[in-house]
Amino acid sequence: MSNKSKRRHSPVVGRRGFIQAATLAGATALTPPLAAEAVPMVPRLAPRTAEPPKLVAETTMSDVELAIRDLVIANRILAHENVVDAYGHVSMRHPLNPDHYLLSRSRSPEQIEVGDIVEYTLDGEPAGGDKRPPYLERFIHGAIYAARPDIHAVVHAHSVEVLPFSISTTKLRPVIHDGAFIGAEVPVWDIADKFGHETDLLVSNMAQGGDLARRLGGNSMALMRGHGFAAAAPSLYEVVRLAVYAPKNAHVLQAGLLMGGKIKPLSKGEITARVEGPTLKPNTAAAQRAWAYWAQRAGVADLLPPQPGK
Ligand code: MN
Repeated sequence: MSNKSKRRHSPVVGRRGFIQAATLAGATALTPPLAAEAVPMVPRLAPRTAEPPKLVAETTMSDVELAIRDLVIANRILAHENVVDAYGHVSMRHPLNPDHYLLSRSRSPEQIEVGDIVEYTLDGEPAGGDKRPPYLERFIHGAIYAARPDIHAVVHAHSVEVLPFSISTTKLRPVIHDGAFIGAEVPVWDIADKFGHETDLLVSNMAQGGDLARRLGGNSMALMRGHGFAAAAPSLYEVVRLAVYAPKNAHVLQAGLLMGGKIKPLSKGEITARVEGPTLKPNTAAAQRAWAYWAQRAGVADLLPPQPGK
């Protein structure tokens, strides 16, 4: 991994993002055993039934603990915003070991707590030997991380608004400004193309995950025929934003199509300006504002780190 991609390795918003970006290279260099071995981090945390650890000072929490709390927040946000329901999941690449990722055990996002987060190898094995049932479709996450070094967070969901575009020749395109994050091209992956017409449609092994990742290619989102979508981004904040706005964008596009007439999607220049715009990156005021808002609505504002001056 290049230094450049390490610096993009800030899956969080807020002050921690700066801290993490500034210290990651050093932290990785100083802790080769952690990066090289399958070190379970969950047992060092409080049991699932306990209250989350209190934030006395940010320096008392490790990058991994902070990442886990952010991942819990992301799960609760996606549940509260109706992107996921009983099913669907969000993961992030491990902040210290790019060959592992963090994902909840098999539990509905609305209910996920700090103690539910498990560290997995890219092949989908629990790195610390966690025996609790995993998500059947965890291979979506590891396959995308394996294929895309630039990606640090992945969402899989079954949002009903995007599903019509997974079964139709009508393409899902960005048509509203916050829909730009889905990207100019949203490929449709059909599991039947390679795995036949008798699968249960679920991504239940690495071969299927790898095929999905190939269809995703360099894009930010792929639809899964008759099933849902996989979204990928350089940070947890960005993938949550993408997953929150993709169904809204699909809803508007469906409404426009029903009205008849000609649809005008965002131009490539508009998409680029929106996606690459400096005011919309993680660690900006706009990003922190949205993250804090979503977290509060989802009832997990207590998991947010203290802000400077407060
Ligand atoms: Mn699924």
